[in-house]
Amino acid sequence: MNHDIPVGQLGAQGEIMAHAIDACVHCGFCLPACPTYALLGDEMDSPRGRIFLMKEVLEGELPLFDAAPHLDRCLGCMGCVTACPSGVPYGELITSFRGWSEPQRERSAFDKAKRAAILKILPAPKLFSVAARIGQYAKPLAPLLPSALRSPLDLLPEHVPAMQNLPRFTPAQGERRARVAFLEGCAQQALAPNFNAATLRVLAHNGVEVVIPGGQGCCGAAALHTGARGEALKLARANLKAFNPDDYDAILSNAGGCGAGLREYPEVLRGLPEEQAAQALSAKVMDISTFLAHLSEDGGLEPFEPTSRPLSVAYHDACHLAHAQGIRAQPRALLRLIPGVTVLEVPEGDLCCGSAGTYNLEQPDLASQLGARKAGNVLSTKPDLVASGNIGCHTQLQSHLRRQGSKVPVHHTIEILDLAYRGEL
Ligand code: SF4
Ligand code: SF4
Repeated sequence: MNHDIPVGQLGAQGEIMAHAIDACVHCGFCLPACPTYALLGDEMDSPRGRIFLMKEVLEGELPLFDAAPHLDRCLGCMGCVTACPSGVPYGELITSFRGWSEPQRERSAFDKAKRAAILKILPAPKLFSVAARIGQYAKPLAPLLPSALRSPLDLLPEHVPAMQNLPRFTPAQGERRARVAFLEGCAQQALAPNFNAATLRVLAHNGVEVVIPGGQGCCGAAALHTGARGEALKLARANLKAFNPDDYDAILSNAGGCGAGLREYPEVLRGLPEEQAAQALSAKVMDISTFLAHLSEDGGLEPFEPTSRPLSVAYHDACHLAHAQGIRAQPRALLRLIPGVTVLEVPEGDLCCGSAGTYNLEQPDLASQLGARKAGNVLSTKPDLVASGNIGCHTQLQSHLRRQGSKVPVHHTIEILDLAYRGEL
């Protein structure tokens, strides 16, 4: 090891950070993949620069206060991870660093209140739904507010839908091919309840029995990635109790961020008594698109109705599907199964849309620049529809497409499959 990081004092998280820092050879191949470097052009707002800053802070050579603004601007999008030829686990590094440094941060009263509100509201769908409805009434005031308050209002859809109570058990139609557990997610229950309803319909139609286990909750990714490690541990432990991997063929998520969050549990619980249980759960976690692609290869999916006219669908890669989980081909392959659908590639497709969990709320100006850039790239393909597999991206894309005067509908991939089964495309 070529550093003076006090690994012994930092425990398992210290080992994770030291390993990542050692693995970086400073080649700079990750720089063009980094959205903040693309916007700001500052080495300290690049992955390589941030790795250097974290190393300096951990070694006691740089005050945390000086490094924090650059580290806070990191989206956690993992664009640098897939671009890095040396396999530097940057995601584990920044997550561990944030967890370690958060208790030492000096934050303003406004910042503290904002973080507390985010961590309280985001994982609680009913509370989120109430907050979104109140926000809808306040929307006309948005232009008068500072960006930190305007940003969440700008993101709200034109109409906040009613939440749906989904059945705890959905039987398979026809012969049962699999039994799965389903994670409902948080924000999407409040903002886009049809994602989950469509998921249940498509799975049941294809012979899959679906259980929504009670006692489940937020995956904890938002807490983990903003340094609230204690809260993230609490949420991970609740889900370990709710989901027994031995009972299911797979544990499904239809939100890229949540699926990636569940798959991070072995890292979150490393060195703790639940580590093995976390590994067992993580091994069963699958995104809905991966699961359906497996079914498609293994016996096929029920055939889709052709579209009423040729449809061009711009597919947007959510970072926590493409970069964090390597899921790119599966959603595209599923969309191409619908007769009449052509899948379009979005220019700069690897660049984050700026949603990135709570980033939109914490760094509204950068998030807005990235959202506008993404919307412009999507519109350049002239799509009839836009598809993505993550609620954060969905909200961001919808908001920025509307701001650019576009009415092109944005759907979750599973909604498009569901519409095709119903002959409504
Ligand atoms: S993170 Fe990877 S790509 Fe970036 S500078 Fe380090 S080794 Fe090179
Ligand atoms: S996670 Fe994303 S924003 Fe952060 S350094 Fe890597 S590429 Fe840049």
